[in-house]
Amino acid sequence: MADFSEFNARYQSDLDGCEFETLAVRAGQVRTHECEHGEPIFATSSYVFNSAAEAAARFGGESEGNVYSRYTNPTVRTFEDRLAALEGGEACAATSSGMAAIYAVAIAHLKAGDHVLCSASVFGSTIVLFEKFLRKFNVDIDYVDLLDLNDWQNKIRPQTKMLFLESPSNPLNDVADLAAIAGIAHNAGALFVVDNCFCTPALQQPLKLGADLVVHSATKYIDGQGRCMGGAVVGSAELIEPVIGVLRSAGPTMSPFNAWVFLKGLETLALRMRVHSDNALALAQWLQSHPKVKKVNYCGLADHSGHELAKKQQRMFGGVLSFEVEGGREEAWKVVDATRMISITANLGDAKTTITHPGTTTHGRLSEEERQKAGITQALLRVAVGLENVEDIKRDLAAGLDAL
Ligand SMILES: *Cc1c(COP(=O)(O)O)cnc(C)c1O
Repeated sequence: MADFSEFNARYQSDLDGCEFETLAVRAGQVRTHECEHGEPIFATSSYVFNSAAEAAARFGGESEGNVYSRYTNPTVRTFEDRLAALEGGEACAATSSGMAAIYAVAIAHLKAGDHVLCSASVFGSTIVLFEKFLRKFNVDIDYVDLLDLNDWQNKIRPQTKMLFLESPSNPLNDVADLAAIAGIAHNAGALFVVDNCFCTPALQQPLKLGADLVVHSATKYIDGQGRCMGGAVVGSAELIEPVIGVLRSAGPTMSPFNAWVFLKGLETLALRMRVHSDNALALAQWLQSHPKVKKVNYCGLADHSGHELAKKQQRMFGGVLSFEVEGGREEAWKVVDATRMISITANLGDAKTTITHPGTTTHGRLSEEERQKAGITQALLRVAVGLENVEDIKRDLAAGLDAL
């Protein structure tokens, strides 16, 4: 039988120093005696032993190996090792969704009496998780203006244990100064956690800018084709270990089938993020010149407030933009309803372009006053630009815009 143990033992160190695109295709793979070239899906919930003694040793932790797929699974591990390599992190824990990743980080690293500083412009479910559940366990949360370094600094308390943000923000594309906020967190002895869903490691590597942990919704660009739910946490082995502890006991681990889909997604991630970014920039520039468009929010545009910082922190500017039409809700809805191709959905990170009206969907639960404060007007539309030809995306939006 073919034996790849020598190959497997040296393979990952052979990849040391390889570039992102190479790691995206090859990192984490372990070959079996079946000589497979593609990564296998280990669709098994449990693992068997040759003897009672071997079972006892495996359960006791004296010998390494798989016991049960809530603990470890080889396909999931390959995904974890590959994503860790791409983020430049030591370790990764894969989860059943992006929210499970954020939940696991919170449960692993916070306790009653702790205080969290969270950007006011994070994913809505993140705020629900913090408000409805973390508060129940006596964790206090304050919300901060993503761009205001004084606000981050001033709201630090002795109990502050975690700073949490997304950059660029949704839907306004505000860009946070990650290195500066990392400094504020570390001065306070707090962890700095970045949700890197919008950029993916292909465009931004927060650990290199001072973040302690990166969380992902793999559901978005890592899959990239809208098929599976998943998430991940990446960071040092020391910080990931307690996260794995939560996942093992609470159970929101990634399925091996989904891990395999995400592995395939990682292989094309750099290519896809380039096209998402190129398309979004071309669309943003076109929208900016359209007479019925009042304002375009895209950090790739030279006049966006986050442009210089984004150029420094990101390889490209990503696939999500928003824009305000002339008028209000009625005009914005007309543009949505005039589309024939673009999907009307709040999802993002798909090959298919999507459009949503944040004021009545993702940000619909906020009061009008909260929305005004967040800059989410009724005239605002968000587009997550896909991989179609950008001329077709323009034509689909033009139908509604030209009719206003
Ligand atoms: C979608 C999303 C999440 C949640 O991920 P799920 O996979 O839907 O649980 C978290 N953060 C951001 C920025 C997201 O877009």
